[in-house]
Amino acid sequence: MDLFGEEKLEDHNPQTISVVPCAPVPGPYDYLLPDQEEAQAVQPGSYVTVPLGGREVIGIVWGEGQGGVPLKKLKRIGQVLDLPPMPEPMRQFLVRAADYTMTPLGEMGRLATRAPDLAEPAPTKRVVVAGSLVLEKATQARAKVLEIFRHLADGREDFTITRMELARAAEVGAGVVSGVIEAGALRETLAARDPSYRRLDPDRPRTELNEHQAQAAQELQEAVRRHAFEPVLLHGVTGSGKTEAYLEAVAECLRQGRQALVLLPEIALTDSFLSRMENRFGARPAEWHSAANGVERRRCWRAVAQGKAQVVVGARSALFLPFRDLGLIVVDEEHDGGYKQEEGAIYHGRDMAVLRASLSKAAIVLASATPSMETWANAQAGRYRNVNLPVRFGAAVEPTIGAIDIRADKPDKDQWITPTLAREIAQTLGRGEQALLFLNRRGYAPLTLCRKCGERFNCPHCDTWLVSHRFTGIMQCHMCGHTEKEPPKCRECGSDELAACGPGVERLAEEAAARFPQARLSILSSDMAPSAAALREQISVIANGEADLIVGTQIVAKGHNFPNLTLVGVVDADLGLQGGDFRAAERTFQLIRQVAGRAGRAQKPGKALLQTVAPDQPVMQMLVRNDETGFLQIESRGRAQVGAPPFGRYVGVIFSGPDEAKVWDIAQQFARASGPLREAGIQLLGPAPAPITRIRGKSRVRMLLKAPKNIAVQPAIRAWDARIRQRGGVRVVYDIDPQTFF
Ligand code: ADP
Ligand code: ZN
Ligand code: ZN
Repeated sequence: MDLFGEEKLEDHNPQTISVVPCAPVPGPYDYLLPDQEEAQAVQPGSYVTVPLGGREVIGIVWGEGQGGVPLKKLKRIGQVLDLPPMPEPMRQFLVRAADYTMTPLGEMGRLATRAPDLAEPAPTKRVVVAGSLVLEKATQARAKVLEIFRHLADGREDFTITRMELARAAEVGAGVVSGVIEAGALRETLAARDPSYRRLDPDRPRTELNEHQAQAAQELQEAVRRHAFEPVLLHGVTGSGKTEAYLEAVAECLRQGRQALVLLPEIALTDSFLSRMENRFGARPAEWHSAANGVERRRCWRAVAQGKAQVVVGARSALFLPFRDLGLIVVDEEHDGGYKQEEGAIYHGRDMAVLRASLSKAAIVLASATPSMETWANAQAGRYRNVNLPVRFGAAVEPTIGAIDIRADKPDKDQWITPTLAREIAQTLGRGEQALLFLNRRGYAPLTLCRKCGERFNCPHCDTWLVSHRFTGIMQCHMCGHTEKEPPKCRECGSDELAACGPGVERLAEEAAARFPQARLSILSSDMAPSAAALREQISVIANGEADLIVGTQIVAKGHNFPNLTLVGVVDADLGLQGGDFRAAERTFQLIRQVAGRAGRAQKPGKALLQTVAPDQPVMQMLVRNDETGFLQIESRGRAQVGAPPFGRYVGVIFSGPDEAKVWDIAQQFARASGPLREAGIQLLGPAPAPITRIRGKSRVRMLLKAPKNIAVQPAIRAWDARIRQRGGVRVVYDIDPQTFF
């Protein structure tokens, strides 16, 4: 057997093979090959089952055995699974992603095999297909079965239908169908249980693109045609037709016979996007996200592996699907924080998408109305091609943005809508148009306190306040999910004078309902819709104009198209700037522009009003002046000066454990052992108490590592990490390129 080329290691044993188990272990490890016949089927990328710590897990064949372990200590591969082997670029991707994010390779393998039943044969069902199609001396019922079958098959030789479906269609009993099968006119056979995806047609007639869009589409299509790593920033104001343009890139990818992946930051957006794809290509593409059920995931994974799924629309985890020949990745709303995975394998979906595209020789389109500083800087430096869509499509114009100084234009006590904003809302509603009140805070109030004794209601497991949710009558910790019933009395002194402090969307909605009793109110908050379907329903209600006044959190900022919405009121424009990290200004700028972009998407012009205590702040000024370039330039200069990302590299290190003293002890040991970091030119700040000192009962201490951009930080961190072996139950997590700093 010579699977892996001529070169053989001295101590390599031909009976062994290395396998990455899909489990949170580093790997690959050596295993013994299965018996002769099965061994024939093994090749690099084959999926197998292997024993690991008393369990049987799926593994990915990596290469020949590495040796160094006595043969009799090795375990044997279980079965070789009947799946197309994982292609080489995908295996490279897993290695590089594991290295970069400092995640065990096996954990990446696990992300790549997250579909049910992979170890089982592809599920099948019994179906009826054409047989001789002749019946002699047929009863009327049997003749009808055959006639209906012919009618449904409509000339297609590969037409299948279940026995029950056919009986129902012919309005006969299942026994009659069986009779036709016994007579040989029809046959029964096994077919794949999961239906295949309908073919997408890139060449259907489509509405004409305007001049800018046509130019952009052409550049994107050229990038796809090159079959090479082609990163592109598609930068255009909301409503300019970015989606229209990149759908043409998808079309080109289809023509090239390669697969395409479209990533969206938010599941709630998937449905309307899929309909849009269906309009353009005549069929719905595959979808992949956490809300998809097991059957859909199984269907999608297998079809992607077989190269039969042409396009996948999905969440960041879709990056780990085993595409056979990936020609294009689109990352829509590329600036969105939702692309960062913060638990388990910590990775940034956008950055991993770029890596995946580079290894697959694919084009990648990063689309945004408000690009991240990282992507913008890459485009400025010429590393990414820059494609612009400067104006809104058709008659729509960009909304004007104004500031309202809350200090001068005060709302009443325990109210949040200023008189000016209230007047504007009344006028908008009076014209029969929709208004949106935006507040990026879920629940009723962020803090409940006792007026008598000052007791603050906090989470028993975290260093956080409980957020009151009046609609459901509970108080919730937004960190760990802990909930308790809203107490009627203070738990300390028994007083019933409890005060809700500050606004959440629910409280804002209460105020809006009181002020505008005639308006049909809709509250859009991720935690208030009972399901993804309910949320979609609510969004379509708004889009259809069946709501007048919308009160929403950041979920309304993303991608939705509400044609009759002309006024956006940002209730607390300063919210994101308070106590924030170095990206606070960037995120505020992006979020407010995104929300403002919901206004005036159709014929009527839109307006956004920002309530702020600091209208003179540079961010507010540049928002009002609609000066994105100015903002990005000033912001990037500031970051370059202090070596902040994207001009330098940050790594967050989080120590956590049940015993606070032990957590500090380990953090200090790490600090003292920082030689490998210093030698590599990496600066260490901390340890310091994390801004949230306790989450889920675990105490938390943070460090921040700062390094120049040109240093590969991972090897130095690995050497550092290896110095402290005894950790007494303290967990150490590395967050490369951190997005959050709590
Ligand atoms: P973006 O992705 O930049 O926000 P979209 O592609 O969603 O913009 O376009 C905004 C709206 O304008 C959508 O409703 C879209 O259908 C419409 N639109 C854009 N370009 C065209 C076009 N060339 N022909 C018809 N409708 C278009
Ligand atoms: Zn009290
Ligand atoms: Zn909590």
